[in-house]
Amino acid sequence: MKCSIEGCPGEYETKSVVHTVRHRGQVVVIDHVPAEACSVCGDVLFTPDTVRRIENLLRESSATSRAPSRSVPLYEFA
Ligand SMILES: [Zn+2]
Repeated sequence: MKCSIEGCPGEYETKSVVHTVRHRGQVVVIDHVPAEACSVCGDVLFTPDTVRRIENLLRESSATSRAPSRSVPLYEFA
């Protein structure tokens, strides 16, 4: 699929990415999320199904005691 960014000649390729979201004031990092990523500009698209699964995961992670599989160091840029 052709990249949707104006002027970008790239194509989207399916790959797994690290997705970072802020959820209830906490930064949550989800690894191995399937996404369509542009090989040229790096633009990333998620399918509606993937978005739904991310939302479910976030809801589950706060509703139950589902533990993250790993913890990551988080650095502040400034
Ligand atoms: Zn692109």
